[in-house]
Amino acid sequence: MAPRVTVVEDEEALSILLRYNLESEGYAVDTIARGDEADLRLKEQVPDLLLLDWMLPGLSGVELCRRLRARPETERLPIIMLTARGEESERVRGLSTGADDYVVKPFSTPELMARVRAMLRRVKPERISTQLVAGDIDLDRETHRVRRAGRELKLGPTEFKLLEFLMQSPGRVFSREQLLDGVWGRDIYVDERTVDVHVGRLRKAVNRGRQRDPIRTVRGAGYALDETFTAAAPRASARSESA
Ligand code: CA
Repeated sequence: MAPRVTVVEDEEALSILLRYNLESEGYAVDTIARGDEADLRLKEQVPDLLLLDWMLPGLSGVELCRRLRARPETERLPIIMLTARGEESERVRGLSTGADDYVVKPFSTPELMARVRAMLRRVKPERISTQLVAGDIDLDRETHRVRRAGRELKLGPTEFKLLEFLMQSPGRVFSREQLLDGVWGRDIYVDERTVDVHVGRLRKAVNRGRQRDPIRTVRGAGYALDETFTAAAPRASARSESA
């Protein structure tokens, strides 16, 4: 079962972005826009992790955090607080709100996803897989090792992140813009053609000889990890080894 993450955030665009990125990582996501509503819903169902905005209508994130810590069911719920830059974030750091971690807006999405993963791994190690497998390719998030048919691949840091991102959602087509958001982060300005360059490097590193290309180019749309690659892998790798 996928770890469940609840996002309490009143800024709609940010809430959508977080949902999108968390779902891409395989989490089940709930979004709530008000603090008081979150208070009620968290009494009914406790997620595995909470992303909580500091300023919320109805009930502030800090007050909600305090209430959650006072209830036995949510006493140990992992909470990452999202705070605005400036006075509030200075204050929230000084306060003992009971949050486990703080992220200051605007934050980089890959960085936040890494913190979510790290925190879930701490509390629910059995639910967070460090190993991603697609066909004859396996990628270890912990050691940053990638192997194809047992052979270790040498990938640059961006190619590694790109492959990791694609392997998280086999078959799903990502636009260049979505790949930029998910791999490079939202605040970094990179030209969309950069994505093509890195996909090219990734292909070169992953495919040797007549090995099948796991990355699908979708004209006018973007790139995807070919989901049929996963299914046909044992034959594909046997073929490539005999070739
Ligand atoms: Ca807010």
